[in-house]
Amino acid sequence: MAQQLDPATREALIARVRFYRDLGLTEFYRRPVDEIENVGASGFATLDQVSSAASQSALHEGIQEEQPIPPRKPLPIAPEIGASVPRADRAAALQLIREDIGECTRCALHKGRNKLVFADGSPTARLMFVGEGPGADEDAQGLPFVGRAGQLLNNMISATGLKREEVYIANVVKCRPPGNRTPEPEEANTCSPFLFRQIDVVRPEVIVALGATAATYLLGQRQPLAGLRGRVHSFRAAKLIVTYHPAYLLRDPRQKKEAWADLQIAMRELGLKAPAKA
Ligand code: SF4
Repeated sequence: MAQQLDPATREALIARVRFYRDLGLTEFYRRPVDEIENVGASGFATLDQVSSAASQSALHEGIQEEQPIPPRKPLPIAPEIGASVPRADRAAALQLIREDIGECTRCALHKGRNKLVFADGSPTARLMFVGEGPGADEDAQGLPFVGRAGQLLNNMISATGLKREEVYIANVVKCRPPGNRTPEPEEANTCSPFLFRQIDVVRPEVIVALGATAATYLLGQRQPLAGLRGRVHSFRAAKLIVTYHPAYLLRDPRQKKEAWADLQIAMRELGLKAPAKA
């Protein structure tokens, strides 16, 4: 007999399925999502297809899914690349973007934020990291990647031989999604043009997308992480490498080796050598 779950538990299960699917981990399904999904000519899978996959998986476990997740909208085309800003003017240009954002209420995420998280690091960085959005620590401090995941990112940066203040760090959305959920497409699409402007000003040579959400909104295509890692993409004026989000690496440290391999691609593109161990 099918086990009945309360709506909150069902929602949590579906959210978990989406989370793993976005990370490119589909093996835990009884039927892999990519076999179930019928990705159209646009290359976009829809979330209701994922939901359907989740429901089928859940049904295998005796769980009934009654609340369909609304479909995702296609990703927008990123705007034209902005004109190059002289290095000496980049800090001021970033400040103008920050002022443009202001006390933003352009999307629903403003309702739950304490502090808007713009960015951290060097306005002339050669290497940029892009995450998904602020968590609780970031929301409290107004800086990206300052919690446990931030500590791990700092270690990753050190491993490249750079200091945190030498790179530039930002997120797809600048306000914390409630409960650290994945930003909704409408939220990410509203906020990401500011990120694109930041990228155009900083002009990093290499961008590292941390996790599937960052990769999705930078590359403009929704693909499992596994299909995007291990190679060099191009985005605007930069080369783009995709790797795991540090929060995921905290949950599954076995993947750190894979993340290090991704960072080594970024280092190779920048001509960096790992510092000698003391
Ligand atoms: Fe504005 Fe971005 Fe915050 Fe939404 S997430 S309110 S678009 S700054």
